[in-house]
Amino acid sequence: MDATTVTRAPVLILLGPPGAGKGTQARKLEDKYGLVQLSTGDLLRAAVAQGTEAGKQAKAVMEAGELVSDEIVIAILRDRIAEADCAQGVILDGFPRTTVQAEALDALLAESGQKINAAISLEVDDAAMVDRISGRYTCAGCGEGYHDTFKTPKQSGVCDHCGGTEMKRRADDKAETVASRLEAYHAQTAPLIGYYDSKGALSRIDAMGKIEEIAAGLGAIVEKATG
Ligand code: AMP
Repeated sequence: MDATTVTRAPVLILLGPPGAGKGTQARKLEDKYGLVQLSTGDLLRAAVAQGTEAGKQAKAVMEAGELVSDEIVIAILRDRIAEADCAQGVILDGFPRTTVQAEALDALLAESGQKINAAISLEVDDAAMVDRISGRYTCAGCGEGYHDTFKTPKQSGVCDHCGGTEMKRRADDKAETVASRLEAYHAQTAPLIGYYDSKGALSRIDAMGKIEEIAAGLGAIVEKATG
């Protein structure tokens, strides 16, 4: 990857509590703008499944709905963002989640003369998040997200995207854990809205509406921030 490519590659951040739709929207942006979705939650779940050292340390913390240490998450993100595909631009979903992580990201990007293009806050009502999360599941094959009530596949049990028939639910999508995850969001992640606002990089979007309408609004923000 040459320096010019790195400098031009967009870096976007999606902020919002669990259930706000960060993953769903990140996948749409990935398809539409050729960006790479970087989800530290997905990377951590892969590390847990593979039984790596980081995965072993993260497992119980994730099951409790708390945040994995900055050290582990920053190391995972640093390795992934250095991979060749990320040179086309990234959309960060679930990272940063603390001020320490946000500062580490700024420092990491500064190493290659980059900075973030936009941090977009998906604004939702907390009360609705528990219902959204407890009904959700994904295709094991391609990761497409579904919901028992809000987004069912056209043919029951068959993925619209890849035709896969194996669906999975996350271990931490139980109602008890969701409360801890929302609490962690408000205590440790919500302050990042102010962090990016003070840098003039923040946009807000109402994320309580229809998935396609939110996607259209996000697209307009992304085009403005990267155009
Ligand atoms: P997510 O898939 O983004 O909802 O993340 C699932 C879980 O992974 C979270 O509840 C945390 O335990 C952990 N996690 C993901 N991203 C981070 C992060 N940036 N910092 C700390 N913990 C994280």
